[in-house]
Amino acid sequence: MVGVARGARHRSQSTVREPLPPVRCSCPDGRQGPIRLTRGTILDVTFYGVRGSTPCSGESLRRYGGNTACVVVEDDAHDPILFDLGTGLRFYGLAHQARGGGSFRGTALLTHLHWDHVQGIPFFPPLLTSGGQVRVHAPAPDDERLADTVQRFLSPPYFPVSIDALPGEITFHDTQPGAFEVGAAVVHAAWVPHCGPTFGYRVELGGRTVAYVSDHQQPGIGSTEVDGAVLDLCAGVDVLIHDAQFDDDEFALRSDWGHCTVDYAVEVAAQAGVGTLVLFHHDPSHVDERIDELLDHARQVADRRGVTDVLAAYEGLTMSLPAVRGARRRPVASST
Ligand SMILES: [Zn+2]
Ligand SMILES: [Zn+2]
Repeated sequence: MVGVARGARHRSQSTVREPLPPVRCSCPDGRQGPIRLTRGTILDVTFYGVRGSTPCSGESLRRYGGNTACVVVEDDAHDPILFDLGTGLRFYGLAHQARGGGSFRGTALLTHLHWDHVQGIPFFPPLLTSGGQVRVHAPAPDDERLADTVQRFLSPPYFPVSIDALPGEITFHDTQPGAFEVGAAVVHAAWVPHCGPTFGYRVELGGRTVAYVSDHQQPGIGSTEVDGAVLDLCAGVDVLIHDAQFDDDEFALRSDWGHCTVDYAVEVAAQAGVGTLVLFHHDPSHVDERIDELLDHARQVADRRGVTDVLAAYEGLTMSLPAVRGARRRPVASST
């Protein structure tokens, strides 16, 4: 069973359990974070940025939040694993410091290099002090090393300083599709249809599985066809975090923008047999009430398709997955 902390308005009736005692996080910018004490038997998945395309703000976006993609998988026996490094990364770094996390060491699984997935890098507080270490995996660019590609856009004139000048250490690892180990976790990377080389990831840790498919091109209007590599990546996971940028009308106008509809996200979840679907990568034009509507719609579709649990990601959402002892892992076929 997956527990969902905070935000009762969005809770799924079928999976809610009482959250662990909350520890409020008083961040310097006044945000009240959702950080909670973790136990060794719990895997926490926390959302720090849930938007696609561009950061946005305003009263009408307040409940779901306006930071771009950043999700963190944590348990207290393992270094954190981050999905993407959008502007939510700064919020996460502030929370890490506010709870006295000490020098940061973690691994980031970057889906691709579009702005909404990398803009948080030079604003991540643990990289702005010495001692912080971030290891980044991402698809290898076609014609140069990943580190060189990142260096090009994180240096003057696009940014005031070079990424090499940051006090913390960030390393980039050109990664191929397949499986590799990150500490005790097994990570699977697979190509996902989008604009340019893009990965989705599956993380297996503590007998639990989380799949992250943030940007996913739907094949066509009304299509139910799902790429085989994506289905394999998502097969039977406890939690699938999936692109849900458009409704049908929006997709009809932007069918080649690299994204999909809420209905398609449900379709992927249904075909892959996932436990909980989390709608993610919200369009910046979608105000809180619109996402509420899309969530209600998705739940109706999910009922018909046999998907029992659907949530819409919002900043501060923590999903707690009790560990499963003795669970079998997929074999690691290759390492990168
Ligand atoms: Zn994106
Ligand atoms: Zn993208």
